[in-house]
Amino acid sequence: MTKRNVFSIASLIILFFAFVFVLFSCGNNGAKIDSPTYLTVCEGLEKPIGLHDNKPTFSWKLPVNENIKSQSAYRIVVASDTALLPNKADLWDSGEVDSEQSVWVKYKGKFLESRQKAYWQVMFRDQSGKESAWSKLSNFELGLLSNNDWKAKWIALEPEARPDRSEKGLIIHRPEYLRKNFTLKSTVREARLYISAKGLFEAQINGKKVGNDVLVPGFTPYKKRIETLSYDVSKYINNKTNTIGIILGEGWYSGRLAWAKDLWPPKPRPKAICQLEITYDNGEKEIIISDDNWRGTRNGPIRFSGIYDGEVYDANLEIADWSTPNFNDTNWENVKSSNLDSSIQLVPKSHLAVTNKEELPTLAITNVGSGRFIFDLGQNMVGVPLIKMPVIKDQTVTIRFAEMLNQDGTLYTDNYRNAKSIDYYTPKANAETSYLPKFTFHGFRYVELSGFDASKQPDKSWVTGIVQYSDFEATGTFSSSHDKLNKLQKNISWGLKGNLVDIPTDCPQRDERLGWTGDAQVITPTSIFNNRMHAFWASWLKSMREEQGKSGNIPVVIPNVLFDHRKGDISSRFYTSSGWSDAATIVPWEVYFRTGDTKILRDNYEMMKGLLDFYKSMSSNHIVEMFTFGDWLQPHRENNGSSSDTKPELINTAYYARSIDITMKTAEVLGNKKDANNLKVLRDSVRVAFETEFIDDEGKLTTEYETQTGYLMALGFDLVTEETAQKILPHLIRKIKDADNHLRTGFLGTPLLATVLSKYNRADLMYTLLFKETYPSWFFSINQGATTMWERWNSYSHKDGFGDAGMNSFNHYAYGAIGQFMYECIAGINPLEPGYKKILIAPMPGEMLEHAKAEYNSLYGKISSAWKKIDNGLELDVTIPPNTSGKIVIPIREGQSVTLDNKEIANNTDVKVIEKNDTNIVLAVMPGSYEFIAN
Ligand code: BGC
Repeated sequence: MTKRNVFSIASLIILFFAFVFVLFSCGNNGAKIDSPTYLTVCEGLEKPIGLHDNKPTFSWKLPVNENIKSQSAYRIVVASDTALLPNKADLWDSGEVDSEQSVWVKYKGKFLESRQKAYWQVMFRDQSGKESAWSKLSNFELGLLSNNDWKAKWIALEPEARPDRSEKGLIIHRPEYLRKNFTLKSTVREARLYISAKGLFEAQINGKKVGNDVLVPGFTPYKKRIETLSYDVSKYINNKTNTIGIILGEGWYSGRLAWAKDLWPPKPRPKAICQLEITYDNGEKEIIISDDNWRGTRNGPIRFSGIYDGEVYDANLEIADWSTPNFNDTNWENVKSSNLDSSIQLVPKSHLAVTNKEELPTLAITNVGSGRFIFDLGQNMVGVPLIKMPVIKDQTVTIRFAEMLNQDGTLYTDNYRNAKSIDYYTPKANAETSYLPKFTFHGFRYVELSGFDASKQPDKSWVTGIVQYSDFEATGTFSSSHDKLNKLQKNISWGLKGNLVDIPTDCPQRDERLGWTGDAQVITPTSIFNNRMHAFWASWLKSMREEQGKSGNIPVVIPNVLFDHRKGDISSRFYTSSGWSDAATIVPWEVYFRTGDTKILRDNYEMMKGLLDFYKSMSSNHIVEMFTFGDWLQPHRENNGSSSDTKPELINTAYYARSIDITMKTAEVLGNKKDANNLKVLRDSVRVAFETEFIDDEGKLTTEYETQTGYLMALGFDLVTEETAQKILPHLIRKIKDADNHLRTGFLGTPLLATVLSKYNRADLMYTLLFKETYPSWFFSINQGATTMWERWNSYSHKDGFGDAGMNSFNHYAYGAIGQFMYECIAGINPLEPGYKKILIAPMPGEMLEHAKAEYNSLYGKISSAWKKIDNGLELDVTIPPNTSGKIVIPIREGQSVTLDNKEIANNTDVKVIEKNDTNIVLAVMPGSYEFIAN
């Protein structure tokens, strides 16, 4: 027998035993069906350490399998130890619950304290009662939930005798390096680091950065709440003697923010706090805290770091091994400690922190003379550059940024306004160096380097863009047969990445980067389609609740840094604006509608009612007179006085009615019938007042300027009777035609174009507007080279150059709200019931497209809708995830019929025809994948 034959026989034997083993294990599993997957707690958090909520909710997905349609029962078990699962759960055993609910199931077990570790599993029964196997184990661990859990103190160095000042006269807080050695008593079983800063921190243990987060703890109303981060640092502590170190920067807390000098209060200096909790193998515990025993210095390499202005780094001052036990800190100073402030809550961060999410390589380099070279990343982005280049000792390298280039190829930086946005790096040796700024971020596509070793030829590898944003996962995709539409989707997604840096911002590059509420409310639906954003929005709404004024008013930026300290509470015009403040009702409602989580409504209901009280106090006979930014940046204005032609009282009253409507629906969901009835009466009265005041008998606006936005608000917010709506519609269409089928809308009106035109069966006109190539339009910006969404349609044009630098952001997500039309109308994926428990698939194929497709990874699983035009008809592929159901509206032409999998549709358990007329066939479907052909 040859060697080869021996191997073949051996392999056959192995294969046989493997087969028997598989058979045996399947049999062992009984007739169990596949187990649930994607287990999360609270707002979509997977295995969190440092969870903020001791009454979490649980969610899971059913496995995708053609036999599994829905859930008829579930059982959740939660235990303090994995060994107790599944049968001896000591924290909670839900028992078998007959229910379809697979998301937002409330924990009803033992009271959970700070630091509690919990392991959990879930199983379910399908529609026919078949039992699943237990899911894989998941877990969560609570953070330090209250100030009482903190033994640590705030620490910082003594204030400098002569603090450095910026050119604005503001005190600059030089980054501080703080450290402490500690000795272990025995072997560590596990260790947790709880940490935060008034400012920004980077923690190091034994020379290694802790975690992947950047720009932590993040941006909250610091006078009320500062978030804390929790890290499993068991693996960082492995010596007898160890060192914990913190670098402390000024960040949003202590650095300059906003632009009007008289709004700047003197900034408090940064401080850090941390508590390292160690459990030894024998169960003994030890806590290392930030206190007077720490040492610190300001003589480290980061000389300055500011959110707007950039970083100054001197490598000569690098302190080798400063966060390791080898370092001798006798030349450092003692820190000064202070107690926790009783008015400021320290609470675990409730959404994922910013991290380094993506890397962009340099695509091209140009020499702009005088030793300056510009590196083009090909994409406007937000984050920091990773610089790796040859340098000369003490010759400072200047790193400048820009989103766009001037005609002559140099950086266009006028639109950064007062933000310097420059990093400086001073080398300590002639060498190849590597540098990544820490406590700043920039909005840029181009990086200019000067001051490097001029004898070397610049190389693309010298600059990499490190893209930073809050660490959520992508959930949606959209693509089509049209390149510019695909580019638009890409630009929307980059606009979101750039402006979801811990809080939702207006722009990420100039001296602003603030949580503008108006921009946020228009982008919320699109943002949720693109990314798993639930926790992000819930967390920002918490800040909004904390910032609500005494009279119910909601500031226009959250956290509110535009507070006018000279005038006090609400006297500043920046304190509230219709269309902006309504983020208090719109954002929770949109998040609820797309996730089905009623908690977000419960949490924000009182805030919504407060806003209505404020509106009421500003209204007379239901018409509201108050400040509004109006239909911000409306193109082709006729009036020069204010920001848009649409009358402010119209906008105020329209948003008042809209916010009442949402609050009323919220009351209904929360089961508060009394409030719901009262609010309905109020809403109807405001609607009547609106119609009487602003619309005449012919359905025409009575206001001085007749605007698209005026009509859009009346129709989009349902402010008029159906009869009046039918009269208004022709006026709107006329105004669009008068503009040669272009929009004349700003931030508030633009998203309503799609809502209104699709609602009144004029998706064709919306397609026309969307596919316009000329100003003002989405494709116009793309034609001028946009790689993100711009603040203005013509922030730049090849013909006229740059728009007014005073307001000229090349990364502003508001006009990206059109994304909602792309996935809800073009591809046709809509929640029919909150959270996509029931899904509507109703694509609206436009003349300009051959095919389009969207996918959305909902809480129940993947939903997809893909259509393609075929000879004289349409092919439509749809996926509906388990534990949901679908209603599919397939557009047909007269005389056409629809087949499913090439067969005539026959009613069966999965598919039922519920309506057929000349334009549509409407089906009710169960979970599964379907291929329809209409011709
Ligand atoms: C921001 C906007 C914001 C506006 C208020 C601007 O400076 O960039 O996006 O909504 O102010 O009108």
